[in-house]
Amino acid sequence: MSVTSVANPAGLPTYDDVVAAHERIRPVAHRTPVLTSGTANEATGASLFFKAENFQRAGTFKFRGAYNAVAALSPTERRRGVVSFSSGNHAQALALACRLAETRVTVVMPQDAPESKVAATAGYGADVVFYDRYSEDREAIAAKLQAEQGLTLIPPFDHWQVIAGQGTAAKELFEDVGPLDVLIVCLGGGGLLAGSALSAHALTPRCEVIGVEPATANDGQLSLQRGEVVHIEPPRSIADGAITTHLGSLNFPVIQRLVRAIVTVSDHQLVAAMRFFVQRMKVVVEPTGCLGAAAAFSGAWDVRGRRVGVILSGGNIDLPVLAGYLNQPESPRSGQKVVP
Ligand SMILES: *Cc1c(COP(=O)(O)O)cnc(C)c1O
Repeated sequence: MSVTSVANPAGLPTYDDVVAAHERIRPVAHRTPVLTSGTANEATGASLFFKAENFQRAGTFKFRGAYNAVAALSPTERRRGVVSFSSGNHAQALALACRLAETRVTVVMPQDAPESKVAATAGYGADVVFYDRYSEDREAIAAKLQAEQGLTLIPPFDHWQVIAGQGTAAKELFEDVGPLDVLIVCLGGGGLLAGSALSAHALTPRCEVIGVEPATANDGQLSLQRGEVVHIEPPRSIADGAITTHLGSLNFPVIQRLVRAIVTVSDHQLVAAMRFFVQRMKVVVEPTGCLGAAAAFSGAWDVRGRRVGVILSGGNIDLPVLAGYLNQPESPRSGQKVVP
């Protein structure tokens, strides 16, 4: 652990870390736009502000945390290189971050990871090491590379500087639209939610921060209920960025302290939201990125009469898969109270 990469090793990440992260990433990250829709506002009775991280570099908010973590490395750590494991968006974001910082990176990816994600990761210049997700342990492989080659591990969510970097999206949202009554954020391991909660708490202390998970992957909700990190079996959902089995050890205490509730939505509700974004707002949002909006549209959290921030976390989806969702017949039984 380097002195430069940890501001307050005894405690947890704070809003000061988010502010420092914003200074580091500002020269390279996009300040993504905030989108609004009269149709969505009418249908929900709320004022919704969508923070469009699907327009972030490498297609998701993950670039913020990845670049912040790489930029905070000491010169020695940077010279030796970085290692991580990810089947998806963290791999691409970290590969791009390391290319910009001129740092070598090795990413451990499952043999059956989507071709497009492997191609994007390798295309940004990362070394990709494959593993068999049914018989091998990716964390053990990464730990071996770390030990043998002196690499620094930058995991997808359970990391101080990753959490701080992810908090910069919500910071920009509050700066751009002013105080909010509710902030709705999706979660997998809880990097985006923990970082967002730090920003919300600092910038609008009365704002309710709400997490959203797929109904089949509600380990975060169970963890809040039980007061400890709950591990679940590998879940199934079309929200592939949110099918983690447990929250991070740094993420959970921040979420426990600052998040009001975690709610869930169904895959049907995600598809309805995805179709809405393409058809009405002309934007592509991947299924995981639709979790927050689906919670507002379905009434999973009551937003009527309130100013509500929603983070659209990413837009990476293979075109044939997107086309498949768009071609599904409208489902009147999606359980939505409101389908904008
Ligand atoms: C990784 C990811 C998430 C979940 O982020 P965590 O920090 O793991 O909670 C949500 N949406 C998208 C698009 C992602 O790539």
